[in-house]
Amino acid sequence: MSVQTPPHPAGLAPAPAPFLDVRDLRVHFPTEDGLVRSVDGVSFTLEKGRTLGIVGESGSGKSVTSLALLGLHKGTRAQVSGEIRLEGRDLVALPEAEMRALRGRTVSMIFQDPLSALHPFFTVGSQIAEAYRVHHKVSKKEARDRAVEMLKRVGIPQPERRAGDYPHQFSGGMRQRAMIAMSLVCDPALLIADEPTTALDVTVQAQILDLIGDLQEEFGSAVVIITHDLGVVSDVADDILVMYGGRRIEYGSTRDVLKNPQHPYTWGLLRSMPHLTGDVGERLDPIPGSPPSLIHLPGGCAFHPRCAYKGWVPDGRCTRERPELRLLSGSARHLAACHLTDEAKQEIRGGTGPDDHAATARTAR
Ligand code: SF4
Repeated sequence: MSVQTPPHPAGLAPAPAPFLDVRDLRVHFPTEDGLVRSVDGVSFTLEKGRTLGIVGESGSGKSVTSLALLGLHKGTRAQVSGEIRLEGRDLVALPEAEMRALRGRTVSMIFQDPLSALHPFFTVGSQIAEAYRVHHKVSKKEARDRAVEMLKRVGIPQPERRAGDYPHQFSGGMRQRAMIAMSLVCDPALLIADEPTTALDVTVQAQILDLIGDLQEEFGSAVVIITHDLGVVSDVADDILVMYGGRRIEYGSTRDVLKNPQHPYTWGLLRSMPHLTGDVGERLDPIPGSPPSLIHLPGGCAFHPRCAYKGWVPDGRCTRERPELRLLSGSARHLAACHLTDEAKQEIRGGTGPDDHAATARTAR
């Protein structure tokens, strides 16, 4: 009798075990005001050498997801459930001591703000060398050589000399490069970059994203980029997961999500993104309203208080019934959670045209 592999909760067809397989991840925080459901049933997969962009506003659960991948909620009040399988090993069930051994070596993170991640009292080179020595039994000299080599690889000029500088002696872009060097010094299999370019100007942003892409090719790591800006991932991600209120609302290949976005929230993110080919004086359209409370998420579709299209769905269904994440007809792996019919989306997009922005985003690829 043949045994059927159960369908993956990410909605994808059964396949060999992926390198990273996150299933029904939940991260809840008990507070005096109630349970904060920061991440509520998130699933996705990622292969080595590929990049996933997790996109959403603050409070969407994207950063909490990334901290869960690093096991940083262990030992806190957070209630974590579901599975995070990395090469078959479930990180959620892993004891903290074993997780600590993986952190930095197998799973590593580039933080948003290198100034707070780098210690101000130690030289940049010594901090990268120390990150290497924690996981490898090498001499101080070997660790320092490795640090200099990494600084060179991330494009720091005169790395031998600059390794002796303190973080405040580096520019913002150089600090982020040093942070990347520190994250990659142990050749991690999974690299998580949390808003890696937010604090940088546009030119340096592009350089840093190129650098992450080049190093990923060289090291063959899987990369998760966390960002509020679809523009950041449009060039570098293979897949995009859009989160809202701690849940997935759209998931698919970058090409599909940008070329044929299916969820009004994704339309809103695209509209609030500068046109890469547009006018200098162009007006951006921010999504009206604020992200929802993660304690009292709105009933029905969590996005309904902000959604301009809920009137297109009859009988007030958007306010009553939570839309399931569904495969887009004719697609093998593009999912969205919205009650709008294909015909309604077609009509909306023929009129007000979220596609205009999607087309612009497309030009970035
Ligand atoms: Fe808008 Fe309704 Fe779709 Fe939610 S389900 S995004 S409220 S149209």
